[in-house]
Amino acid sequence: MTYDVIIIGGGPAGLTAGLYASRARLKSLLIEKGLPGGLVTTTEWVENYPGFEEGILGVELAMKMEKQAVKFGLEIIQGAVTGISLNDKLKEITLEGGARYLAKSIILCTGAHPRLLQIEGEDEFRGKGVSYCATCDGAFFRDKTIAVVGGGDSAVQEAIFLTKFAGLVYVIHRRDKLRSEKILQERAFSNPKIKFIWDSVAEKIAGEGGVNALHIRNLKTGEKSELAVHGIFIYIGYNPNTEMLGGMVETNGNNYIVTDENMATNVPGVYAAGDVRSKPLKQITTAVGEGATAAMAAVKYIEENF
Ligand code: NAP
Repeated sequence: MTYDVIIIGGGPAGLTAGLYASRARLKSLLIEKGLPGGLVTTTEWVENYPGFEEGILGVELAMKMEKQAVKFGLEIIQGAVTGISLNDKLKEITLEGGARYLAKSIILCTGAHPRLLQIEGEDEFRGKGVSYCATCDGAFFRDKTIAVVGGGDSAVQEAIFLTKFAGLVYVIHRRDKLRSEKILQERAFSNPKIKFIWDSVAEKIAGEGGVNALHIRNLKTGEKSELAVHGIFIYIGYNPNTEMLGGMVETNGNNYIVTDENMATNVPGVYAAGDVRSKPLKQITTAVGEGATAAMAAVKYIEENF
């Protein structure tokens, strides 16, 4: 089957690219390996997306974006991309199971996945006390003591969310200053259920059957200690989902896709938008703008080249 544009990834960038491409009357297909929505669906509450002054559930926002794009003609299928060929004028996408699709233009919106701490016990206790998604797993820790590792927006926002369930939330950060938005910091500092442990790194997750301790080390004093916790939420940033590209598209030193201001990659007809792109601000608001820009650039590319 041949499409004008194929969008890979169904987060806010991909769904917005789909909305704009469909409204431009391009025959548009979005391929998503899970459910549409991307990382937004792992955030319980979104309160910095304009237009929703009271905030909105991450899942609800994603569903609204999906419905809106489908309303204008975007086709969405579930599938894992196993092959991409960008050499010819018509680009080819292969899915697990062998289905093949051709497109005049491709928009890569594959997002990013959580970075691992890579310490002892992380693999062993993944899903048994170690989590990367507070929205998914927070409710398992009602009245328990848990730890969040990290100091960015994700760590602080999710630590606040986790206080809905947990009795006590330690936030372990490797410096003595948070990276997160000031408004989140203010809320976290005034939350009696959150205790910050500064200048410290997690070194080992221990337990039997489930987690019962996190071993930490203070980077300034070298002092080691053990926190009695039942759950550990790791929020130390994300890595881009670019493995499938096999080096066909230019990336920066951290594997994020490099684009120009039109979201064009170094390969003609191939665009990138959202968290997979090298950029200074990773937000839903920036992702949707990039999705729209990429779609309109694809429209122009197709008009000029086909
Ligand atoms: P991030 O901004 O990259 O922050 C990662 C945090 O983890 C930093 O505090 C970093 O410490 C720490 N860290 C990194 N590697 C570590 C390691 N090996 N051991 C211990 N700590 C480590 O990641 P994020 O918080 O997931 O956010 C990702 C992007 O999404 C950001 O652009 C963020 O603004 C955005 N986001 C926004 C919202 C919102 O607007 N409410 C919510 C979630 C995410 P240092 O500070 O010392 O580097």
